[in-house]
Amino acid sequence: MISYDFEYYLPLSMKEAVQLYKDLHERGKEPIYYSGGTEIITLGRLNVVKTRAIIDIKQIPECRTFQIQQSNLFTGAAIPLTVIEETNLFPLLSKTVSEIADRTARNKITAGGNICGQIFYREAVLPFLLSDSQMVIAGSSGIRTVFINEIFNEKLLLEPGELLVGIKTEQRFLDMPFVSIKRRRQWNTGYPLITVAALKVNGEIRIAISGLTTYPFRSKQMEEQLNNKEYSLNHRIDEAVQSLKVPPLDDSEGSFQYRLFVLKNILHEVFQQLEGEA
Ligand SMILES: Cc1cc2nc3c(=O)[nH]c(=O)nc-3n(C[C@H](O)[C@H](O)[C@H](O)COP(=O)(O)OP(=O)(O)OC[C@H]3O[C@@H](n4cnc5c(N)ncnc54)[C@H](O)[C@@H]3O)c2cc1C
Repeated sequence: MISYDFEYYLPLSMKEAVQLYKDLHERGKEPIYYSGGTEIITLGRLNVVKTRAIIDIKQIPECRTFQIQQSNLFTGAAIPLTVIEETNLFPLLSKTVSEIADRTARNKITAGGNICGQIFYREAVLPFLLSDSQMVIAGSSGIRTVFINEIFNEKLLLEPGELLVGIKTEQRFLDMPFVSIKRRRQWNTGYPLITVAALKVNGEIRIAISGLTTYPFRSKQMEEQLNNKEYSLNHRIDEAVQSLKVPPLDDSEGSFQYRLFVLKNILHEVFQQLEGEA
């Protein structure tokens, strides 16, 4: 049960949503955007999320768009993960999101909610980090489009009141060779011990990781080391993993050292599958 009352709004356009946020904020309602609602409800029950007004974005046409438009895939923020999975326009994205939670939860969880959520795994962001996607954001001064690698640093750096409308991915990335591997502590659902998404772009392998630290990331330094074929695969993986400077995630799911061990094994699998290296 959620222990507080809140107002519910269902805007029909981006402009209306952003204006509603502004008005409600000025009236002290601490509004939040509502997409799949899974995190808002879970954390609302625990009183970790508190609000007096929610703005449901599911009737905004752009947030509900999932299609190729002018050589780009547009993934609306309110698209549920099961729709992404079943439509399969971007196989790396489909595979990565198909490993999040269970099917019933994925019917609700949305691309935008996963990327903007407080729970830090945010696995849906990994394919977008690898494909230099662009985030389409609505705010009180209009729409801006920003490359993900400029605006996603540990989390999506939105200004107060800004709405993630969707994500644009160049079509050329959609069919590139990929691997997406998730290892959990146990069972087939649940948060990752380590998830690695990899995309082969112009002969080089790009890597993005969730679960090693308290945010998902892509490390270009790590990619350079991994792709440097002057050295053996074992050496490249050891060097790349040792050079990672991230705050260690050490919890009941697994120690940081164990996560590093799992990461190394996954990287071997990635290079075996994409490069035939053993
Ligand atoms: C059983 C279960 C298991 C899970 N396992 C995993 C897992 O293994 N890996 C993983 O990555 N995730 C996992 N998740 C999902 C994750 O933790 C979040 O619950 C989920 O991603 C939130 O998505 P949502 O669409 O429900 O977001 P919501 O609850 O609607 O919103 C989440 C937050 O994002 C904000 N927000 C939403 N949309 C926008 C927008 N367009 N612009 C700006 N802000 C916005 C909201 O205001 C809120 O603060 C799991 C969830 C469940 C229920």
